[in-house]
Amino acid sequence: MNRDRSGVRNRPEVGLRLRVIAYTWALSEAAFAEIDAFAWVQRWQIERAWHSHTYRDRRFAALIACFSCAATGATGSGGPCRTCEGIGRLNLLEPPGSPDQGSPDSARR
Ligand SMILES: [Zn+2]
Repeated sequence: MNRDRSGVRNRPEVGLRLRVIAYTWALSEAAFAEIDAFAWVQRWQIERAWHSHTYRDRRFAALIACFSCAATGATGSGGPCRTCEGIGRLNLLEPPGSPDQGSPDSARR
Protein backbone atom coordinates (compact mmCIF):
# COMPACT_ATOMS: atom_id res chain seq x y z
CA MET A 1 0.00 0.00 0.00
CA ASN A 2 1.37 3.36 -0.99
CA ARG A 3 1.16 5.92 1.84
CA ASP A 4 2.62 9.34 2.39
CA ARG A 5 4.27 10.61 5.57
CA SER A 6 0.94 11.34 7.35
CA GLY A 7 -0.31 7.80 6.72
CA VAL A 8 -2.90 8.80 4.11
CA ARG A 9 -3.18 6.53 1.12
CA ASN A 10 -1.73 8.09 -1.99
CA ARG A 11 -4.10 6.83 -4.66
CA PRO A 12 -4.79 8.82 -7.81
CA GLU A 13 -8.43 7.75 -7.98
CA VAL A 14 -9.20 9.49 -4.71
CA GLY A 15 -10.58 12.92 -5.37
CA LEU A 16 -9.04 16.11 -4.11
CA ARG A 17 -11.93 16.70 -1.70
CA LEU A 18 -11.50 13.33 -0.06
CA ARG A 19 -7.77 13.82 0.18
CA VAL A 20 -8.24 17.19 1.91
CA ILE A 21 -10.65 15.55 4.36
CA ALA A 22 -8.23 12.68 4.95
CA TYR A 23 -5.33 15.10 5.54
CA THR A 24 -7.47 17.17 7.93
CA TRP A 25 -8.40 14.08 9.93
CA ALA A 26 -4.79 12.88 9.93
CA LEU A 27 -3.63 16.28 11.16
CA SER A 28 -6.36 16.31 13.82
CA GLU A 29 -5.45 12.81 15.00
CA ALA A 30 -1.80 13.81 15.25
CA ALA A 31 -2.65 16.98 17.18
CA PHE A 32 -4.85 15.13 19.71
CA ALA A 33 -2.86 11.89 19.90
CA GLU A 34 -1.27 12.51 23.29
CA ILE A 35 -4.40 13.66 25.12
CA ASP A 36 -6.45 10.93 23.42
CA ALA A 37 -4.00 8.35 24.72
CA PHE A 38 -4.28 9.81 28.21
CA ALA A 39 -8.09 9.80 27.97
CA TRP A 40 -8.07 6.21 26.74
CA VAL A 41 -5.97 5.11 29.69
CA GLN A 42 -8.36 6.92 32.03
CA ARG A 43 -11.30 5.20 30.27
CA TRP A 44 -12.90 8.52 29.43
CA GLN A 45 -15.47 8.81 26.68
CA ILE A 46 -14.02 10.60 23.63
CA GLU A 47 -16.19 12.37 21.07
CA ARG A 48 -14.24 13.30 17.98
CA ALA A 49 -14.78 15.94 15.34
CA TRP A 50 -12.07 17.05 12.96
CA HIS A 51 -11.54 20.30 14.87
CA SER A 52 -12.22 19.28 18.47
CA HIS A 53 -12.26 16.35 20.84
CA THR A 54 -14.51 16.22 23.88
CA TYR A 55 -13.62 14.07 26.89
CA ARG A 56 -15.96 12.88 29.62
CA ASP A 57 -15.41 10.61 32.56
CA ARG A 58 -18.14 7.96 32.35
CA ARG A 59 -18.32 7.74 36.12
CA PHE A 60 -20.10 11.10 36.32
CA ALA A 61 -23.11 9.48 34.64
CA ALA A 62 -23.08 6.85 37.39
CA LEU A 63 -23.77 9.36 40.18
CA ILE A 64 -27.40 9.80 41.19
CA ALA A 65 -29.15 11.58 44.04
CA CYS A 66 -29.88 9.41 47.05
CA PHE A 67 -33.52 8.37 47.02
CA SER A 68 -33.67 7.78 50.78
CA CYS A 69 -32.71 11.29 51.89
CA ALA A 70 -33.57 13.26 48.73
CA ALA A 71 -29.85 14.09 48.34
CA THR A 72 -29.65 15.91 51.68
CA GLY A 73 -27.40 13.32 53.31
CA ALA A 74 -29.40 13.48 56.55
CA THR A 75 -32.38 11.69 57.98
CA GLY A 76 -35.41 13.35 59.52
CA SER A 77 -33.89 12.87 62.99
CA GLY A 78 -30.74 14.75 61.96
CA GLY A 79 -28.41 11.75 61.69
CA PRO A 80 -26.54 10.82 58.55
CA CYS A 81 -28.44 8.85 55.92
CA ARG A 82 -27.61 5.14 56.14
CA THR A 83 -28.07 4.51 52.42
CA CYS A 84 -25.57 7.11 51.19
CA GLU A 85 -23.67 7.49 54.49
CA GLY A 86 -24.39 11.21 54.58
CA ILE A 87 -23.05 12.05 51.14
CA GLY A 88 -26.40 12.58 49.42
CA ARG A 89 -25.52 10.69 46.25
CA LEU A 90 -25.09 7.10 45.16
CA ASN A 91 -22.60 5.68 42.72
CA LEU A 92 -24.24 3.12 40.46
CA LEU A 93 -20.86 1.54 39.75
CA GLU A 94 -20.44 0.62 43.40
CA PRO A 95 -23.11 -1.39 45.22
CA PRO A 96 -24.55 0.22 48.37
CA GLY A 97 -22.62 -0.81 51.42
CA SER A 98 -19.32 -1.26 49.62
CA PRO A 99 -16.33 0.15 51.51
CA ASP A 100 -15.80 3.03 49.02
CA GLN A 101 -19.42 4.14 48.78
CA GLY A 102 -19.62 7.88 49.18
CA SER A 103 -15.97 8.54 49.93
CA PRO A 104 -14.50 11.55 48.15
CA ASP A 105 -12.15 9.37 46.13
CA SER A 106 -14.81 6.89 45.05
CA ALA A 107 -16.07 9.24 42.34
CA ARG A 108 -12.57 9.55 40.87
CA ARG A 109 -11.80 5.87 40.53
ZN1 LIG B 1 -28.96 9.42 51.44
